[in-house]
Amino acid sequence: MTDSTTPKNKLQGKVAIVTGGASGIGEATARHFATHGARAIVIADVQDEMGQRVAASISPNICSYIHCDVSDEEQVRTLVDSTVNKYGCLDIMFSNAGIGRATYAREQSVLDIDLSAYDKLMAVNARGMVACVKHAVKAMVEGHVKGSIICTASVSASVGSYGIVDYTMSKHAVLGLVRSASLQVGSYGIRVNCVSPGVVGTPLVKDTMRLENDEEVGKMQEASSYLKGGLLMPKNVADAVVFLASEDSQFVTGHNLVIDAGFKLKV
Ligand code: NAD
Repeated sequence: MTDSTTPKNKLQGKVAIVTGGASGIGEATARHFATHGARAIVIADVQDEMGQRVAASISPNICSYIHCDVSDEEQVRTLVDSTVNKYGCLDIMFSNAGIGRATYAREQSVLDIDLSAYDKLMAVNARGMVACVKHAVKAMVEGHVKGSIICTASVSASVGSYGIVDYTMSKHAVLGLVRSASLQVGSYGIRVNCVSPGVVGTPLVKDTMRLENDEEVGKMQEASSYLKGGLLMPKNVADAVVFLASEDSQFVTGHNLVIDAGFKLKV
């Protein structure tokens, strides 16, 4: 448990990239990285105004923004290369950018899946994760950095979701990537893990679940969680990411850290 007396220097001197850092879980994590002493945080996103605003509000001295569509490998290569050129190394890659289900329906049937929308979703949620892991590993190996790579999966990575077929497929892919890549890069001292949030009130969830406001998000969270006593927030996921990024988890790799307040299936 953390309180005001707990030292918050778990990431002292580290250089981190946060994809999807303009909003939600990514934004909260970028803020946590700063609180925990990171030397440099590069926020990468496609929402430029929001990303720039978040970076400036954290601290223009340590936090910067770069436009990067993670589905485009060249943009990911530029993101990683420019970070290493500017700060000397890459210690932490939080590969978090993602989009919700491609075909919007409360309960999506396999019969309804629009395959071109499916391709777009997989391009961000699966292809983008591979690109980020690949280029982070390359930078860490070349820089002799025993870094930490954390991907954002989902509770939908481990179980079937009744009405969310394509998104569920994309998140299963993330788990496969983390489990396999972690075995390959362990000999370099590089760790690869993922976090799997349950329902967190972010624009992605509102959009995907067609929820109008925070009250409706709250009801959805209540209905989907066994654990009562509060609502799961982006900062709760950020706490788990800090753990996986820090030395506190130095022997943890290939792991899927679930933060879901006891998720009920079939929401
Ligand atoms: P969010 O919409 O608040 O944030 C997602 C961010 O990703 C946005 O800033 C968006 O602009 C960015 N993004 C989208 N496409 C991109 C691209 N091609 N390149 C770069 N950036 C891009 O949503 P969030 O809930 O914070 O989502 C973060 C991650 O968490 C996603 O991978 C999502 O699938 C996952 N997740 C969320 C929940 C939840 O309940 N919110 C649950 C499980 C998993």
